Amino acid sequence: MSLENIETPAAAPSDFIRDIVAAHVAENKYPRIHTRFPPEPNGYLHIGHAKSICLNFGIAREFGGVCNLRMDDTNPTKEDVEYVESIQEDVNWLISAWADDKLGLKPHGKTPEAVTSNGQPDFYLPAVTGATAGLEPFYASDYFDQIYAYAVALIKKGKAFVCDLTPDETDEYRRQGKASPFRDRSVEENLDLFTRMKNGEFPDGARSLRAKIVVDAPNIWLRDPLIYRIRHAAHHHTGDKWCIYPMYDFAHCLSDYIEGITHSICTLEFEVHRPLYDWILESLGLPRPLPHQYEFARLSLTYTVMSKRKLLQLVNENSVTGWDDPRMPTISGIRRRGVPATALRAFAYNIGITKYNGLTDVAVLEHAIREDLNKRAFRRLAVLRPIKVVITNYPEGQVEELNAVNNPEQPETGTRKLPFSRELFIERDDFAEVPPPKFFRLKPGGEVRLKYAYIIKCEEVVKDAAGNIAELRCTADLDSKTGGATAGRKVKGTIHWVSAPHAVDAEVRLYDRLFTVAEPDTGADFKATLNPHSLEVIHVKCEPSLKDASPAERYQFERLAYFALDKDSAPGKLVFNRTITLKDNWAKEAHKS
Ligand code: ATP
Ligand code: MG
Repeated sequence: MSLENIETPAAAPSDFIRDIVAAHVAENKYPRIHTRFPPEPNGYLHIGHAKSICLNFGIAREFGGVCNLRMDDTNPTKEDVEYVESIQEDVNWLISAWADDKLGLKPHGKTPEAVTSNGQPDFYLPAVTGATAGLEPFYASDYFDQIYAYAVALIKKGKAFVCDLTPDETDEYRRQGKASPFRDRSVEENLDLFTRMKNGEFPDGARSLRAKIVVDAPNIWLRDPLIYRIRHAAHHHTGDKWCIYPMYDFAHCLSDYIEGITHSICTLEFEVHRPLYDWILESLGLPRPLPHQYEFARLSLTYTVMSKRKLLQLVNENSVTGWDDPRMPTISGIRRRGVPATALRAFAYNIGITKYNGLTDVAVLEHAIREDLNKRAFRRLAVLRPIKVVITNYPEGQVEELNAVNNPEQPETGTRKLPFSRELFIERDDFAEVPPPKFFRLKPGGEVRLKYAYIIKCEEVVKDAAGNIAELRCTADLDSKTGGATAGRKVKGTIHWVSAPHAVDAEVRLYDRLFTVAEPDTGADFKATLNPHSLEVIHVKCEPSLKDASPAERYQFERLAYFALDKDSAPGKLVFNRTITLKDNWAKEAHKS
């Protein structure tokens, strides 16, 4: 099934950042709009990053601009190529095919300047030199030479000095608003010491380069902040070339400048850094236009932890199977669970962009996933907890191929054949020997319709020696299937089933929320609130067409939930992940224990 079939009408988003961009487009402030998404490769991306990706790439797309993926890799000791690769894969997955999903979004304002030689629209192509096809990341570390030169330029302007205080002393002096005793070194001495820092003459922490701004500014970020530190550590991208590394605040604005970024969008906690961002660019006297920073509220979700440190802890302490465990809020986990990129993008657009931090109900995400999957998923029959049914008046050895629609939301996806025979499986929960009031499924002496097939009546409950139900002996109204004389006869319940001799076996992983409380992040021990029922593995019976299940498809096991094939599947071994239940019955499930 292709995305073209899916109509997801959604208004083009509007928010205060897009309003600013639209005004800039209207006044022709920049040749073109240029954003960036700058993760530090020190962990896997999570759904909060997805919000930022959709914002930055979305703005580029809507305003005919460009968005760069940039590895903000200035801290060698915490970073790794594994993370670089996962980030690249995740961003690609989230934004690829965006052009042809029907979110109702068309670029407005300027049209994209060009389509590149390989036919890709340029909104996700690198804009600086050496552009390659597809989403290739930029690296802040590729600019280390230029950033170093800018540091030297600041020193020459008398706006930076080498400081010999230890990191702890520096913190303390800054807290107290006290001048460093090294603040008034001469330009010559600063240049000499900075060169020697670069040449590796001093150990880690012995010296640093600090901007010379205001020692007791009300905004602590302006109190002569560190801009370079010594780190004798190999870097995943630059190897052993450097033993000094620029601090985030220094590298970030300059990387933005070097790439020609116009709108540098980040989360609210960086608002207090903005004066420093501007100070660095202004102090260097760089040619205009300069990039400008804008801040928005980060995403926080109920029942979810989002800090990279805590996610890393879950991985390292084996609370989950890895970064891409389908219970993780990482993009790779969400993808593996079976959530389509279109659903994540719709979620990111639905929640909007604001200036105020708040908590988003995870049910909003789940709603976006259900909406998307409802349109996309093939309907299939599968019985999770089987109980045998024998239709005593159905001839032994007879098999009928019944027609069943693939997806009522998309009739053009056609029908499939569903074999029916004398022996079936139905869901254990769909039978009650002693039915509670208003139980409309199967009960002794009662009738129920088998979806796409006959009305059956339970005549006898057969038990084994231990008193467990071994099988249900039923009769079918053989005129009640589609086209039959009694097809229109109404019974209260309809249940799903599979033909026993035709059923294929599958492992099903029933995933649920990872935490039992709405705000797991606030407690001292967040792991104490892990949901002990976040995964249940069962072995199920599926209709035979699922033998050919594809990882590219999504499936609704009727009356149950949405499922996707897991990467642990192999020829002859089906493994399905439950992406999400059909209804939000979480509160009920949470009290099951
Ligand atoms: P850390 O600083 O601990 O490494 P981080 O979450 O800030 O973690 P980055 O890799 O620096 O991770 O983030 C990359 C970009 O994603 C930044 O622009 C950041 O503002 C944005 N971002 C991070 N977390 C969220 C979130 N929860 N919601 C929205 N945007 C986010
Ligand atoms: Mg960060």
